[in-house]
Amino acid sequence: MSKADYYEVLGVSRDASEQELKSAYRKLALKYHPDRNPGDHAAEEKFKEASEAYQVLCDADKRAAYDRFGHAGVSGGGPGGFGGGFSGAVDLGDIFGDLFGEMFNMGGQQRAARQMRGDDLRYDLTIDFHEAVFGTEKEIRIRRLEACETCKGAGSKSGRGPVTCPQCQGRGQVRYQQGFFSVARTCNACAGRGSIINDPCDTCRGETRVTKEIKLTVKVPAGVEEGTRIRYGGEGDGGRTNGPSGDLYIVLSIRAHDFFHREGQNLHCVIPISFPQAALGAEIEIEGVDGQVMLKIPEGIQSGKEIRVRGKGVPYLNEKGRGDLIVKVVVQIPKKLSKAQRDLITELGKSMSVENKPTSPGLLEKMKDLFS
Ligand SMILES: [Zn+2]
Ligand SMILES: [Zn+2]
Repeated sequence: MSKADYYEVLGVSRDASEQELKSAYRKLALKYHPDRNPGDHAAEEKFKEASEAYQVLCDADKRAAYDRFGHAGVSGGGPGGFGGGFSGAVDLGDIFGDLFGEMFNMGGQQRAARQMRGDDLRYDLTIDFHEAVFGTEKEIRIRRLEACETCKGAGSKSGRGPVTCPQCQGRGQVRYQQGFFSVARTCNACAGRGSIINDPCDTCRGETRVTKEIKLTVKVPAGVEEGTRIRYGGEGDGGRTNGPSGDLYIVLSIRAHDFFHREGQNLHCVIPISFPQAALGAEIEIEGVDGQVMLKIPEGIQSGKEIRVRGKGVPYLNEKGRGDLIVKVVVQIPKKLSKAQRDLITELGKSMSVENKPTSPGLLEKMKDLFS
């Protein structure tokens, strides 16, 4: 494949000035920069093409060679050889120097400011079913970074605090030439912070923070669900050199209950009932999630039917009221009978008839006087 003409790539005339080249390249670079077109290979190719064209044309010697000999004049071999330098070994996101740095939000100051804030922390807390339903308080211990007391978070013995890193002038990055790209690397003198401490504090070794274990009482409100996150603003890691603290997130997980099953704010359970209770109806007391609950079984209820008891479910989180308790009744058919029971049921059977013919479940529902 033949290479596109560098002037055509940038969309400028052959006698374009340095300023015209620069603004043409800036426009293309902003449009096709990989940071703005993630995963778009066509854009990446255009970006590389424009970068290559600009790097050649902005250099007076290379431009002269290109004008005379075309691509052959500027490709292949030589110290710092370009030609094959676009293999992708260079991190394209870090290519730009001062020219574009600020436009891509790569300014050293912003980077440093971001590093000042402490990290957010996560703590996984497992609580019982009842604690989730009705709320609880739990004491937890967490380890987090806090400002060093010896140096009051300055990091230095003298209290002078950090000074601008002489190697990177506070940028946190150093640039070097690779091929004809300016490539950024994290400064190794200051580990990218932009500042160094000349007389580090003995306690924190200049880190400005030390690890502390603290106790915290977590208030779990009633009605929380599996995975509910409780945020404690400013209770995460302290920031470097007294920067703002991160947040602490308590992530809840809830142990299952032996027989109550939760769906949102409703509770579900299964209660076995006898055939006489189902046929005649009954009022029974069952164990709810917080004390006894009266359950009214209507006369003639079918096995598997659900009865809703309003307001006996889970309280709404941060709101008044509670969900419902939904009780599924299952009619138990006795497997063993005493002689007296057998006689009674035999007698009952004589006065009860069911048409033993195929039917569908839906039709069965509609047949009201099944046992008449
Ligand atoms: Zn540095
Ligand atoms: Zn210290």
